[in-house]
Amino acid sequence: MAHLDFDAVTKTFPGPLTALDRFALSVADRELVVLVGPSGAGKTTALRIAAGLERATSGSIRMDGRPIDHLRPKDRDLAMVFQQPALYPHLTVRGNAAFSLSMRRTPRDEIDRRVAKIAAALGIAELLDRYPETLSGGQAQRAALARALVRRPNCLLLDEPFASLDAPLRAELRREFRASHGRDPLTTLFVTHDQDEALALADRLVVLRAGRIEQVGTTQQVYELPANRFVASFLGSPPMNFLAGKLMLQEGRLWFERPDIRLKVAPPMHASLLQYAGRELVLGIRPDAVTITEPGAANDDAILEGTLIEQEFQGDRWLVRLRTKSGDMISSLLRAGRSSIGDTVQICLDTHQLHFFAAQEQGRRL
Ligand code: ATP
Repeated sequence: MAHLDFDAVTKTFPGPLTALDRFALSVADRELVVLVGPSGAGKTTALRIAAGLERATSGSIRMDGRPIDHLRPKDRDLAMVFQQPALYPHLTVRGNAAFSLSMRRTPRDEIDRRVAKIAAALGIAELLDRYPETLSGGQAQRAALARALVRRPNCLLLDEPFASLDAPLRAELRREFRASHGRDPLTTLFVTHDQDEALALADRLVVLRAGRIEQVGTTQQVYELPANRFVASFLGSPPMNFLAGKLMLQEGRLWFERPDIRLKVAPPMHASLLQYAGRELVLGIRPDAVTITEPGAANDDAILEGTLIEQEFQGDRWLVRLRTKSGDMISSLLRAGRSSIGDTVQICLDTHQLHFFAAQEQGRRL
């Protein structure tokens, strides 16, 4: 067991781009940290530097407090699982799973016990005598995971391990992996660009963009209190709606105003927002806090007018695109309303579910 620290790790490749910029992160013993971010954010680079497959340009990696930068990958006691499972083709699933323990001369009965336990947890007990070429993608990825878990490394590094699987299988493996981590936690750094996977798995989430950390926190903290507009729009599907406007103080109350809407800011947000009275800012609201009613219907929420321009049935909900005077908004509704495409509707915003951000692009949370 180990804790893993990245100390201001920077990685530049030839060219102007900095793949990782003073990346600082501590993964606690037995913690499952998920690195999430768009393509090119630097996620794989961080993992490869931890594994010793890539050297940092500056900064250092420590395990249990000791620098490991000088150690070769095989001397770091880390296990890595990639998007494409890397199995020894001449060994069975059992042989692959047992490989590193055999190399360490672990007693046979101990190896058998560990392999059987992990294989059962990952649902591959029946496949132990099969060779990799006879496995499906999902089975091969389970075998690769088993090989990583059986040896109980100091730290587990996973790079999009489920990305090549179809959606139901991905969800199943994700559940099994989370359950296996719950029973027997290893210090784990997991890379994905899939926000659902990130939210489902992480003890803590690290949101990366262009080599920099945008936010670190529990999944709930990051989802409910996004640090800036980038994080707010990256996590959540469909993404948060944004409306630019001005914050006004009138008779002791704060209002958010723009030409087509004037809404009261809920009192709990006053203390933090009062200092921005008179300033331009951006309001954020998630699609599930936006509902629609027909014109004239009574409603206590803040209302602006728009036209329904698209609706999409998603099985468990409807996604509705609404055109307002100053841009489109998305509403996520549990039931279809009576309105049809082209209708003028009232768009209702739940004023208890508002976020405010600085007006600059990707502005920070206020
Ligand atoms: P993805 O989700 O697409 O895998 P990522 O977040 O894992 O992206 P990285 O693979 O870490 O991103 O890449 C970060 C940046 O570093 C990218 O702009 C990439 O082009 C660049 N990069 C990565 N490896 C190399 C390399 N060997 N040579 C040059 N540039 C590289």
